[in-house]
Amino acid sequence: MQLFDVYSLYDIEPVKGKGNYVYTADGKEYLDLYGGHAVISIGHAHPHYVEAVASQVAALPFYSNSVRNSLQQKLADKLGKASGYEDYQLFLVNSGAEANENALKLASFATGRKKVLAFDKAFHGRTAAAVAATDNPKIRAPFNETENVEFVPLNDLEAVEKKLATKEFAAVIVEGIQGVAGIRMADDGFLQKLREITRETGTLLILDEIQSGYGRTGKFFAHQYAGIRPDIITVAKGIANGFPMSAVLIAPEIKPEKGMLGTTFGGNHLGCAAACAVLDVIEEEKLVENAAEVGEYLISELKKIPQLKEVRGRGLMIGVEIDGSAPELRKRLLFEKNIFTGGAGATTVRLLPPLTITRSEADRFLQAFKEILA
Ligand SMILES: *Cc1c(COP(=O)(O)O)cnc(C)c1O
Repeated sequence: MQLFDVYSLYDIEPVKGKGNYVYTADGKEYLDLYGGHAVISIGHAHPHYVEAVASQVAALPFYSNSVRNSLQQKLADKLGKASGYEDYQLFLVNSGAEANENALKLASFATGRKKVLAFDKAFHGRTAAAVAATDNPKIRAPFNETENVEFVPLNDLEAVEKKLATKEFAAVIVEGIQGVAGIRMADDGFLQKLREITRETGTLLILDEIQSGYGRTGKFFAHQYAGIRPDIITVAKGIANGFPMSAVLIAPEIKPEKGMLGTTFGGNHLGCAAACAVLDVIEEEKLVENAAEVGEYLISELKKIPQLKEVRGRGLMIGVEIDGSAPELRKRLLFEKNIFTGGAGATTVRLLPPLTITRSEADRFLQAFKEILA
């Protein structure tokens, strides 16, 4: 059988990871400023994580959601404490798209409405409803074209107000910081106003923190810079350091009904053990604080590089706008300097390192980046 060939690959195969580095079979070391797509939050093969996952896989990796699983409550307690959302409810699923799918469904259940408002250049995943709310014609199939989703420009309050005044919208879905779009920020003031308008019109506010959450921006969630509390928050990427898992955080006013949502794999024991271990390390090693600190340093140093057109982002979610081809530059960083970075379109380099990255690793990247640019 052949693989269904949908990915553009680098000709390189990491077989091992340790801390902020990955290694190929021939022992070459690569600094990871991509975190395997914003997924590796606590660094590769963290001993506490390895131990927790290994002992859970030996004990009981999975049993169905028809029986009690106290690991889910343990995770809910830890996540509530880490995020400041102790009064919210937790629903566990398996991927980012699936978390958004459930969030959108829940908003529709709760409001009895059908429409969803999303933003230009948004990315919310590739399943039916999530991709319908994604502003990328290339990945949205004809089947997913729906009159139920409408798009307005990010930070355009007037456009939002006009749409929501109809009171036809179940939810507005917005990324804490747009990731795939190339690190585009929703202004704090915009998010605050959005919170007001959604409340006034009985529309639920869904914050997609799948990429921007879990400490990446220097706060647990990016929207916490705006001081708002959404009705629903979705998280995934960094949640279990590579184990496929995601979650929906649901405000206390939204009441569950038996059977309204469900999943086979979601909330499984192995995923919960992995996710608990991640939160342990985030707290123990003060990784949110580290993301703020090293992120601020990286951003301010990048802003001093004259060849760069723009540097956007917060904490360790950084978009660098270059004059030239970003894919070409990233390839050179990888093959000449042994550094992984992320991309987003033709001219943006996206940095999404593990939250464990150190200042001296940031310096190593800055040095290499300047050499390639020069
Ligand atoms: C990655 C991502 C998703 C989709 O997550 P998957 O796990 O790939 O389904 C959704 N929203 C945002 C903001 C993302 O970055």
